[in-house]
Amino acid sequence: MNVYDSGRIAVILENMGYKAASKVEEADLIIFNTCHIREKAAEKLFSDLGRIEIIKNERAERGLETIIGVVGCVVQAENEQIAVRAPYVNFATGPLTYYRIPEILQRIAAEKNICVIDTDFPAESKFDFLPQNKCSGGCSYLAIQEGCNNFCTYCIVPYTRGVETSRPIEDIIAEAKRLVEGGTLEINLLGQNVNSYHGEDANGKERNLAYLLNKLSEIDGLKRLRYTTSYPADMNDELIACHKDLSKLMPYLHLPLQSGSDKILKAMNRRHTSGQYLNIVEKLKNANPRIGLSSDFIVGFPGETDDDFRATMDMVEKVNYIQAFSFKYSRRAGTPAAVYPNQVEEKVKQKRLAVLQDDLFSRQLNFNKECVGKIMPVLFESKGRKNGEIFGRTPYMQTLVAKGGLENLNKIKNVEITSGGMNSLNGVIK
Ligand code: SAH
Ligand code: SF4
Repeated sequence: MNVYDSGRIAVILENMGYKAASKVEEADLIIFNTCHIREKAAEKLFSDLGRIEIIKNERAERGLETIIGVVGCVVQAENEQIAVRAPYVNFATGPLTYYRIPEILQRIAAEKNICVIDTDFPAESKFDFLPQNKCSGGCSYLAIQEGCNNFCTYCIVPYTRGVETSRPIEDIIAEAKRLVEGGTLEINLLGQNVNSYHGEDANGKERNLAYLLNKLSEIDGLKRLRYTTSYPADMNDELIACHKDLSKLMPYLHLPLQSGSDKILKAMNRRHTSGQYLNIVEKLKNANPRIGLSSDFIVGFPGETDDDFRATMDMVEKVNYIQAFSFKYSRRAGTPAAVYPNQVEEKVKQKRLAVLQDDLFSRQLNFNKECVGKIMPVLFESKGRKNGEIFGRTPYMQTLVAKGGLENLNKIKNVEITSGGMNSLNGVIK
């Protein structure tokens, strides 16, 4: 979501006449987009800001002005800290108000030496105010839903991104068509809780994600569709059927489980049990036997015992994820779990994370190795690290490196997989 927001900010700035600087020392305007999901994000911001302050001072000695802005969830949660700890910051806006950057920059130009802080939760949607999104390559993000009403007891998102809102169907289809006209082949629909999408169509009728995916599938020229991140309890049968019926929908789904223990899931205020989750997985695998699943896990949530952790490991085994993110529980001030008793010791969290990751990574490696010898369609996105190499993604979101010229970028090519490591595949374009 932050990558998407940063892209939208870039379009705002381009429309104002800004161009991307090749080095930070040459930038007249520097904006940090921040995430507050786990602790340390704020500390990282302040250390990065300290580095930028030096650059700002050096530029000032050369008579150059540097405007520094901070955007995103850290601002929403810690705006007072920013003004106190980094007084050289010129503006800070939350994730819902960055569309106001043009007027903020005008104010700064007129009044000089002010720090504008904007952490409103505006009644209106930012999408009504943002300039039209531009295609930036073969693969584009498209935000369809923002905010969250689930209030998982560990999570800061409902407090920083606000209540859940869905964009209207027509707006999304128009944006998707513009992206495809610009060369996008793959659209990844985004939302904190994307599968609870319930936007209005042109007649004011509420429509769900399955309806939207069906509509988007009809766009000529669009080759691939994805959506992320889904909340398990909102995986309804209609949406599961899309994985059978829509050939453009990629056979990969990120479906965060968080924990395999029903006791912990309840304490997390997740509206699903491990049994219900397995039931959804079974239906998905019936809809598309080739589907690959990924997940997020939190270890060391308050009250998690060895048995609870074993239940998580059991679920990993049962679902056999092809990829997953895993985190140590991080206390977020203001969330209910931050003050739960039975907080788990750091060294226990560390140990459990290592055990879990060992298992997850070996599954990921196995899956990647199983792909060797197969031919997969790959959407090439960018130059590789080495000369003459290009980088792309398979339908399962695996990263792939192949030898090839830049004429292959933003195209889907059949690739024979020649080797597979933990983090990426190698292949030959056919
Ligand atoms: N809406 C998505 C997740 C968005 S946050 C969902 O419900 O699944 C992305 C991931 O960050 C979460 O899935 C969770 O695993 C992790 N996360 C969120 N808050 C966290 C916390 N306090 N400590 C550790 N991990 C956390
Ligand atoms: Fe956070 Fe996701 Fe839970 Fe919403 S559903 S509160 S974003 S973890």
